[in-house]
Amino acid sequence: MKSETFEQIKQVLATIKEKSPFYAQKYQAFEPRDVKTLEDFQQLPLTTKDDLRDAYPLGLAAVPTCEIVRIHSSSGTTGTPVIIPYTAQDVHDWAFMFKRCYEMAGITRDDRIHITPGYGLWTAGIGFQLGAEMLGAMAIPMGPGNTDKQLQMMMDLGSTVIGATSSYALLLAETIAQRGIGDKIKLRKGVIGSERWGEKMRSRIANELGVDLHDIYGLTEIYGPGIGINCEAETAMHYWDDFLYFEIIDPATGAVLPEGESGELVITTLKKEGAPLIRYRTHDLTRIVPGTCACGSPYPRIETLIGRSDDMIKVKGINIFPAHIEEALAVTEGASSEYQVMIDHLDGKDIMTVFFETGSPEEHRPYIELALNQAIKDKLALSVVPKAVNLGDLPRSEKKSKRIFDNRY
Ligand SMILES: [Zn+2]
Repeated sequence: MKSETFEQIKQVLATIKEKSPFYAQKYQAFEPRDVKTLEDFQQLPLTTKDDLRDAYPLGLAAVPTCEIVRIHSSSGTTGTPVIIPYTAQDVHDWAFMFKRCYEMAGITRDDRIHITPGYGLWTAGIGFQLGAEMLGAMAIPMGPGNTDKQLQMMMDLGSTVIGATSSYALLLAETIAQRGIGDKIKLRKGVIGSERWGEKMRSRIANELGVDLHDIYGLTEIYGPGIGINCEAETAMHYWDDFLYFEIIDPATGAVLPEGESGELVITTLKKEGAPLIRYRTHDLTRIVPGTCACGSPYPRIETLIGRSDDMIKVKGINIFPAHIEEALAVTEGASSEYQVMIDHLDGKDIMTVFFETGSPEEHRPYIELALNQAIKDKLALSVVPKAVNLGDLPRSEKKSKRIFDNRY
């Protein structure tokens, strides 16, 4: 860690209990002012999403409410949402970081940025918009849905950058290919919200849309999308260590892992005013990439996400991540990147069925199924039931799509 980063952390800790009733409560048994070393810091309790839920509605605020200019809410699928308050400075800092992401991706004020993520309580669309406006590019705030209108506007306005989730980018790419309108589309860059996605899907989107793809990282609890993105040199994502401190922990024990090892990303905000967070568990699995990037940027990097710590599924005692299935599909000739996994318990045994799309004719499919089963066996020492389906048969969605369904409980 840079020495100035630790100074920033100590400054945050010096006043956190005075400013934030949430942390005053959480750190009752601790005196964050006593943190003198990195080891001390690593002893501070982690902050979890459940802690944030318990603070609903405005319990996270660390400023008087008159200084809060906006709230966002994370799209909790269950239970109480999390509300994150922002000051004017927070909104500015977020826009600044998003602008830096666009610049890292080689996007300029001459670009026309077609924004398909949703607007509203969550942070997706509005983050793309803030960054575009601060950059001075033309923002085209489409929001999600209505693919016909999306494509019409994309052609009429000559959109050069698309902001989307990977599954919506794939849907658009497929529709453009089906309609044969590729030559009327001017896109050159795709900025794709970082869910974890396989190399095969990446190259399909890149080829069919004719764009360079950039993974943008972020989460509502920590500003929103825009806190990291990959450069033009490679796929690892640079993150903004002047605003945020990243640690990687063992998700099971909470222990901090050495640089380079994969685990769960934990983030501390260095400048956030409305809702500063200390050692926040993201549940995103990645690693910090050691060394400097070929692009020459001084900003450190994390690897493309390899999954969510809560996406891990145990079948027959083996830990399985979606990335394992994606890697197996990538080496299976004839299999596309789209898949869905069902895990069932039948006759006292766990059965894992992997549905995958293929454009190959019926008579080739048994061979592709065998090859996929072998690829998964090589990787996980686990036998599955592979089932080939037609291209387009599995659901696509504008939101992050769930691909693994555990029906055992
Ligand atoms: Zn780089």
